[in-house]
Amino acid sequence: MGLAPDGGLYHPASKPNMSELFFSLKEEFRKTSGDTLDKRTVSDMELFRRIAREVSYRILGPEIDNPTVERIVKKSFDFTPVHRRLDERLSLLELFHGPTCAFKDFGASFLANAMEELLESRNESAVILVATSGDTGGAVARAFLGKKRIDVVILYPSGRVSYLQEKQLTTLGQNITALEIKGSFDDCQRLVKEAFLDDSLNASLNLTSANSINLGRLIPQSFYYIYSYISDTHSNEGVTFTVPSGNFGNLTAGVLAWEWGLPVEKFIAATNVNDVVPQYLEEGLFKPRPSVETLSNAMDVGNPSNFERLRVIFDDNVDKMRVMLHGERVTDEETLEGMKEFYKNYGILIDPHTAVGYVASNRILKLGKVRDIVILSTAHPGKFGETVEEATGIRPELPENLGSLMEREKKSIPMEPHLKDLRDFLLKHFR
Ligand SMILES: *Cc1c(COP(=O)(O)O)cnc(C)c1O
Repeated sequence: MGLAPDGGLYHPASKPNMSELFFSLKEEFRKTSGDTLDKRTVSDMELFRRIAREVSYRILGPEIDNPTVERIVKKSFDFTPVHRRLDERLSLLELFHGPTCAFKDFGASFLANAMEELLESRNESAVILVATSGDTGGAVARAFLGKKRIDVVILYPSGRVSYLQEKQLTTLGQNITALEIKGSFDDCQRLVKEAFLDDSLNASLNLTSANSINLGRLIPQSFYYIYSYISDTHSNEGVTFTVPSGNFGNLTAGVLAWEWGLPVEKFIAATNVNDVVPQYLEEGLFKPRPSVETLSNAMDVGNPSNFERLRVIFDDNVDKMRVMLHGERVTDEETLEGMKEFYKNYGILIDPHTAVGYVASNRILKLGKVRDIVILSTAHPGKFGETVEEATGIRPELPENLGSLMEREKKSIPMEPHLKDLRDFLLKHFR
């Protein structure tokens, strides 16, 4: 279930203490890695899956037994984070090596495999409805492609997603259906909400969601923070994580890992000019407002849905939150400048979301208060080729698995933004 029946968010009720697990995994990893990386006997994949399994046993058990956890983890992760050290004080945690080249692959993949396992064991099936303004739909569609007992219906606003994004939504086929809604993203979102509240529809179909507030997406996002701590032999103490943020799911997952005992010095909440959380951390007042378009558009969020969870974690106390969280706001001009500077300093192209994280981190480093910052790199630069080229003069290549989508044929079903049309369609195809 995405939302609780009372309309609120689910949140873990207990906080298992895993600090010993994290410490012993780090020790074990240090021993197997020898003095140099080429002496290492444990692959990145083995290590990442091991962490995912160990944490999942403790979070999901006993409701989900260990053999099931092992299957979910193995099927979900045939990709890993990549930790890239830049210098003494800065490193990147690249989270874009999954099938759609963005960090959302981690959460979507785990959720899809967990759902498939649960539906199998209960002999049930489900229809997943997703409204998307772009990237989320692509990651969800790819993660659920070919899953048994699950059909995915994606609603997207006609003419308002990028060419590449539309290809990601409309070319997969199999159990993925794309509805091209003649309206805005808000229309798509409203239709999905109305469908969830429609009694006759819910009596006939097992409707569910896969949006970013689903705990099944949040929990697996904690794994890469833990992986970063364990695999970075440079540092033993807690590091600072900079998280380019929109809905704050990514950052909340890191805070969960910290609650379970991961040594973390601080989280830097890096936003574009949609800065309601940095503003809250400064003034102590949470003032949601309509979002503004920016170059880092996956973070254009005016009322972040995971803020509710952060509030609960820090007892609704801004001073407690300030101890762990620091906010930074980055403009589009600074984002472009950041991409250019990063390329000049390190010879690496970064996407605009990662650049927001870089600019924020640099400001903090200049103050000299933190030693070691890990920037979460949330998307492959090739997905934002135009912007990267504008900043650096160099056009990054589109990653292979996305490039091949370009030749495939778009298949979508046009639809008016009316609940009746959506209801008729769902009942006709999935009852
Ligand atoms: C979704 C997204 C973000 C924002 O993540 P949240 O969990 O919503 O804060 C940042 N960067 C990219 C590339 C994204 O796709």
